Amino acid sequence: MTSPTVLLATSNPGKLRDFAGAASRYNVTVANIPHFSSLPPVVEDGATFEANARKKAESYSLAVPGELVVADDSGLEVDALGGAPGVHSARYAADQPHAAEANTDDEANNARVLRELKEIPEPKRTARFVCVLAAARDGKTLATFRGAAEGIILDAPRGRNGFGYDPLFLFPQISKTFAELSAEEKAQYSHRGSAFRAFLEWYKKANW
Ligand code: IMP
Repeated sequence: MTSPTVLLATSNPGKLRDFAGAASRYNVTVANIPHFSSLPPVVEDGATFEANARKKAESYSLAVPGELVVADDSGLEVDALGGAPGVHSARYAADQPHAAEANTDDEANNARVLRELKEIPEPKRTARFVCVLAAARDGKTLATFRGAAEGIILDAPRGRNGFGYDPLFLFPQISKTFAELSAEEKAQYSHRGSAFRAFLEWYKKANW
């Protein structure tokens, strides 16, 4: 029997890698929505990860009638920054992080976080990655799933894998940053891996 395919609404290659890593253990295949890059982009102006994930999943599911579509909204919450960059993680170094326009580059976003944490000692550099997934069909959200990973923000980047804030995010349980993990390890420990596992448990129980 061929493995079922879950359609993902993302153009972020880092996220796709993470999802593929998490799905392989469940004998599920992931694929991008066909012609995803030609679909009009969804403006991510929600106040929460959940609101943005729902908005993306609902909107993109209209492009593939009858199919289940999964969208992710995720980001980094730094306690000493009052939870920033939060929903603005992808655009933190932009002039207007709230404008919900194009993302800024990872290096610039990381530099801003490091600058803002300059005077903050290690015990107070606690942070978490959060991921909310929404599963939608024909414009309606059927369920949402949340995953989180707790860590510490280093004062310099470490590691070459991953994307986004991964090189700054130390995962104390294994004393590695997320940029020092293989795809399998990231699937095991990350916010995206745990949200996706919760989705897969739900997906496997439903009768598609
Ligand atoms: P989104 O496309 O609005 O969900 O943007 C999420 C942003 O949060 C990304 O562009 C990264 O900056 C950050 N982010 C989310 N998940 C991760 C991760 O697993 N590693 C590193 N950065 C992440």
